[in-house]
Amino acid sequence: MRYPELSYWLSTVDGPLTPRPPLTGDTDADVVIVGAGYTGLWTAYYLAVADPTVRITVLEAEIAGYGASGRNGGWCSALFPTSLPALARRHGRDRALAMQRAMRDTVREVGRVTAAEGVDCDWRQGGTVVLARSEVQLARARAEVAAARAHGLDPDDLVLLDAAEASARCAAEGVRGGTYTPHCAAVHPAKLVQGLARAVEARGVRIAERTPVTAIRPGAALTGHGTVRAPVVVRATEGWTPGLPGHRRTIAPVYSLMVATAPLPESTWDAIGLGARETFSDHRHVIVYGQRTADGRLAFGGRGAPYHFGSRVSPAYDREPRVFAALRRALGELFPVLGPDVPVTHTWGGPLGVARDWHASVGLDRASGLGWAGGYVGDGVGASNLAGRTLADLILGRESDLTRLPWVGHRSPRWEPEPLRWLAVNAGLRVMSDADRAEQRTGRPSRRAAAFSRLLGH
Ligand SMILES: Cc1cc2nc3c(=O)[nH]c(=O)nc-3n(C[C@H](O)[C@H](O)[C@H](O)COP(=O)(O)OP(=O)(O)OC[C@H]3O[C@@H](n4cnc5c(N)ncnc54)[C@H](O)[C@@H]3O)c2cc1C
Repeated sequence: MRYPELSYWLSTVDGPLTPRPPLTGDTDADVVIVGAGYTGLWTAYYLAVADPTVRITVLEAEIAGYGASGRNGGWCSALFPTSLPALARRHGRDRALAMQRAMRDTVREVGRVTAAEGVDCDWRQGGTVVLARSEVQLARARAEVAAARAHGLDPDDLVLLDAAEASARCAAEGVRGGTYTPHCAAVHPAKLVQGLARAVEARGVRIAERTPVTAIRPGAALTGHGTVRAPVVVRATEGWTPGLPGHRRTIAPVYSLMVATAPLPESTWDAIGLGARETFSDHRHVIVYGQRTADGRLAFGGRGAPYHFGSRVSPAYDREPRVFAALRRALGELFPVLGPDVPVTHTWGGPLGVARDWHASVGLDRASGLGWAGGYVGDGVGASNLAGRTLADLILGRESDLTRLPWVGHRSPRWEPEPLRWLAVNAGLRVMSDADRAEQRTGRPSRRAAAFSRLLGH
């Protein structure tokens, strides 16, 4: 496996991506964690900080950051996949707000720990600007701010921008307004995950790489290299979860794909803006996301790749020329200053994890000792840190504000068996992309997309 080819980010970390030694035979631990992405590593980190005597082993099929954690858009945000109104309907207004506040604090916490641990991940908390580039999108921006106010968020959390204010941050084509939140940092995702792996190792955590776990059972994680016995076993496998026995319908892997441009000249940046390295998006239905990287590129991604039958995950699905072409087109439309031939140098992708009710969760079953976290959709860079802190509290038996948050112990329903799952997920993806085209054509909001969002509980 040529790890640097997995993403622009993995190709630009310091040092070679030489795998750590795999597991060699049976062993014991107090906690075994399956998966060395952010979730697994943050859990190990906070456990090791809280109690350095806890013996922790992390088992990783490839290398730390092989998964979404080494490939994502680098938005360390306060976003949570279930919207605030939907959380309030399900858990009550106060608990929904507590969840949102905890996510906001999480952005600060990741900044604090990475600085304290010397994890140089190009951190810059410049917030997020979401542009409105049509009247329909502007109406959505207004509705989002109104809903945020109605649910207890204030202008320090989210503000509506007029056309001049939005363009001052991100001078895309046809900007009519937008929204801005300060609760997001742009990061280099692979530097973050690799730095985190080094930080946990320095605290005595064992990371065995190239060690795929074949099954998780109460008290043990089984691999072809041996078994790790431990009273607590944490599943931190996100998009790969369906590959574990008993979990075929726990999470649906949905692909998100990205492109990165060559470093852009200062004159181009003068035209585009993003001077505080704000992460950016717009109010279309099919999610797109971008950041100005520390080395002066645009890294830009979006959904739109198909869901694969049977929740299969394969390196072949990381690359979808049709989606790369669409992303390149979308970048050119947003920023005509890039010229007719947008200078894309890197393309990549990877699976993120979606729970049936779009509700991320974290938990520990006391009776079996089995813990888990995931279902973050496209919001796991921040949420995985909150999950790691929460799992540490749960494992150490500490009641805290974190363990009382509404996502703790939440059990999402299982996905439908195939072929229903394939039909439903791909139909959903289609509704959203059709809706964007229809809105562009008619200038009216798509009723089908709105109905579909309601169906998902958004
Ligand atoms: C292209 C893309 C863009 C994204 N952009 C953003 C963004 O900008 N902001 C944001 O918040 N989120 C974003 N996300 C989502 C975010 O990256 C994920 O939610 C987050 O990285 C999940 O972390 P994780 O540790 O739970 O999972 P992963 O990082 O996927 O890690 C899971 C790990 O488990 C390992 N594993 C799986 N099965 C086994 C097994 N059987 N045995 C051993 N090891 C196993 C895998 O190899 C992998 O390393 C994006 C995702 C993608 C794919």
